[in-house]
Amino acid sequence: MKIDEIRVAKGSLSDRIYAGKLAKNNIEWLQKKDITNDFLSAVIERFAGFTEKITSSDGKTYRISVREIKLGDDLCHCGCGKQYEECKKKK
Ligand SMILES: [Zn+2]
Repeated sequence: MKIDEIRVAKGSLSDRIYAGKLAKNNIEWLQKKDITNDFLSAVIERFAGFTEKITSSDGKTYRISVREIKLGDDLCHCGCGKQYEECKKKK
């Protein structure tokens, strides 16, 4: 595999991030490696502490931000006492 052939993409059946070589159909991997942990580390280093507006190749605009959660900051504000991700009401 040549370095120029390496692509990075989210798996279609999971939230894992892979790097590798795609088949000619641009869908199936010929070779892939799960790089989720490296990917998330890079995202944290790149975006921690600020927000950036990004326009993707399909013309949609997104706001990306990474915020560190300190102890206790991740509790839901609806009063349920759960962590934010675990609350169904999310406020
Ligand atoms: Zn809640």
